[in-house]
Amino acid sequence: MMFDLIIIGAGPAGITASVYAARKKMNFLVITKDIGGQAAWSGDIENYTGYQFITGPELAGKFEEHMRKYSIELKENEEVIELKRKENGFGVKTDKATYEAKTAVITSGKRSRELGVPGEVEFKNRGLTYCATCDGPLFAGKDVAVIGGGNSALDAALQLIQIAKHIYLINITSALTGDAIMREKVSESKKVSILNSTRVTAILGDRMVSGIKIKREDKEETLPVEGVFVEIGLIPNSEFAKELEKNELGEIRVNCRSETNIPGIFAAGDVTEVPEKQIIVAAGEGAKAALSAFRYLAQHK
Ligand SMILES: Cc1cc2nc3c(=O)[nH]c(=O)nc-3n(C[C@H](O)[C@H](O)[C@H](O)COP(=O)(O)OP(=O)(O)OC[C@H]3O[C@@H](n4cnc5c(N)ncnc54)[C@H](O)[C@@H]3O)c2cc1C
Repeated sequence: MMFDLIIIGAGPAGITASVYAARKKMNFLVITKDIGGQAAWSGDIENYTGYQFITGPELAGKFEEHMRKYSIELKENEEVIELKRKENGFGVKTDKATYEAKTAVITSGKRSRELGVPGEVEFKNRGLTYCATCDGPLFAGKDVAVIGGGNSALDAALQLIQIAKHIYLINITSALTGDAIMREKVSESKKVSILNSTRVTAILGDRMVSGIKIKREDKEETLPVEGVFVEIGLIPNSEFAKELEKNELGEIRVNCRSETNIPGIFAAGDVTEVPEKQIIVAAGEGAKAALSAFRYLAQHK
């Protein structure tokens, strides 16, 4: 079956694209690893217009509810591994099947960057995690470390202040770099020790995490913690789109109509080079991309 459109990803950009595609009565499919994307990992959201305060999982739930109001064909828990040009359209290969469509909207967002130190792979989900919102409650009353100094790390630390006993914020640069309001809140908390100019060199433990090795001013020491939250940035999920033009960060290049270098393929949200990685920006870009795909189809009948 040849779809009019395949939307890859169901974060804020993909969900909004699917709502617009549904309202245009397009024959389309959404393929995604999960629903909500990074929005579901966020703690408190205070900058999505219309909600003065809402948590990430709540907002993601509202997005999902809106999308499911339309009877959308949705492949969940499925990962796109290749998007390729074919005669009359595109082939989308996943870990489960292959689909065809006349157009595609890529909204595959970003994933967490890994630390790349000994112990990281072994202790993943055994005390080491990349998602404070998802896994924070597992560390109630425990000493934990958050690795990073930007907004993601500060957001994680702020969430953990409510849950953990003590938080070590391990930041490789000489000062925290996240938003001033978050830096202030974290710095004010007696529960947080900020260790600037400090590098993590290993994750330690037996079956579960029991500590981390850190290095500062050439001195190595061990911090006893039971939880490690890696929050050192994000990388775009764009590897499956080999034929597309990307910038040096791997973000897909798009113009103001969400068009990529390949006619018929559009992209939106955090996976693109559009500045400001925010929910409201991703949602707006997702709407634009779906409307551009609709217009493209009308012009290429
Ligand atoms: C901790 C944290 C806190 C944040 N706080 C805020 C905030 O307060 N306010 C704000 O505006 N923004 C915040 N953000 C940023 C915001 O969440 C993102 O900008 C937004 O979610 C991007 O939306 P997106 O749809 O482009 O991508 P994503 O949310 O990354 O969604 C991508 C989707 O694509 C799917 N996917 C990925 N690869 C594939 C594949 N190969 N095949 C199929 N599916 C795939 C994923 O499963 C997911 O569903 C925060 C981000 C983080 C990490």
